[in-house]
Amino acid sequence: MIFKLLLIVGVIAAVYFFFIKKSMPLTKERKADQKNHEDDETMVECATCSTYISINEAIQVSETYYCSTECRDKKQ
Ligand SMILES: [Zn+2]
Repeated sequence: MIFKLLLIVGVIAAVYFFFIKKSMPLTKERKADQKNHEDDETMVECATCSTYISINEAIQVSETYYCSTECRDKKQ
């Protein structure tokens, strides 16, 4: 009876640690992935022509984003 109980507890513990070990790095990777994804896909509005461009392509002047150097020069 005690042996059976220990076996059950042992199995539960093994499954528990197996899932924790498996899921911990996965969630970390997913979070990192999501962050990178967000950085790539963030859309900003051009202050001059209101066109939406991805933040990577945008030209940033202090707090303002522009779609091109022409728009930037028009505004200033
Ligand atoms: Zn523009």
